[in-house]
Amino acid sequence: MHAMTVLGPVDAADLGVILPHEHILIDLRHHAFAVEAILDDPDLAVDELRRFRTAGGGTVVDVTNRYMGRNVETQMRVARETGLHVIASTGYYTELYYPPHVYQWSTNTLADEMIAELTVGIGDTGVRAGIIGEIGTMRDAISPAGERVFRAAARAHLQTAAPVSTHVLQDELAHDQMDLLQEEGVDLGHVIIGHQGDHRDLDYLVSIAERGVFVQIDHIGMEFYQRDAARAHLIAQLVQLGYCTQILLSHDVCFKRLLHWFGGQGYDHLLTGFVPMLREEGVSEADIQQMLVDNPRRALATYT
Ligand SMILES: [Zn+2]
Repeated sequence: MHAMTVLGPVDAADLGVILPHEHILIDLRHHAFAVEAILDDPDLAVDELRRFRTAGGGTVVDVTNRYMGRNVETQMRVARETGLHVIASTGYYTELYYPPHVYQWSTNTLADEMIAELTVGIGDTGVRAGIIGEIGTMRDAISPAGERVFRAAARAHLQTAAPVSTHVLQDELAHDQMDLLQEEGVDLGHVIIGHQGDHRDLDYLVSIAERGVFVQIDHIGMEFYQRDAARAHLIAQLVQLGYCTQILLSHDVCFKRLLHWFGGQGYDHLLTGFVPMLREEGVSEADIQQMLVDNPRRALATYT
């Protein structure tokens, strides 16, 4: 089995430690904290990601789709200059970032745009996306346009087998997201529910895991959302309950302050700072390996 990277298909066995939800460059200009959430320096991106490589990293999944600042040239540079495998994404993020055609095109035509990026290439670069994401919901309910994006993503997944990676933040719409994808016929074993590392409620996480998706504990290092110690404890509890094979771990670097250059802990914090916390919680080496390597590999290796 293979994963599709920006430099072509890679044997899944060679992916190594995978960060399944990061941003290499990003432009969240419509957020209130915009200045903080614009990463637009390719040289800095290379330097910061090299630290993940040096710490033992193998692959970074850049879930920045086109309309939130994806930069294919920089993705290829990072891959060439750091030796990391880089996976690009396709889709539409949240309503603030939808291009006008999300409101104008049919659901199938939206799916076609994703399918083209997954199977033919992004623009005229020849670079293919390897994942659909991050597609998200906002706060209270899934909007009509949001519902169409989720249905389009489901149809693009059914045509290509590419995994679907979602964003659920400051809302509890994970079950609504899963309902929509399931209604379209998606096997939830190919779905990653993102941003689940900020919860305190173990029962809620278990209710998500019980449906068979990947539960992504990201925002590791973002202690303004939740302390890492609390995240490590939650993970240990989920592992204890038997959900280890469904857990994914990542940082979701998207703020300047998370980068080393600005005093943060960077893309290597999971390996250098957080894994020791998992050990302290009593999580075994085999289970850590399962979450860092085996689970994301299973999620991404969809090309034969
Ligand atoms: Zn997100």
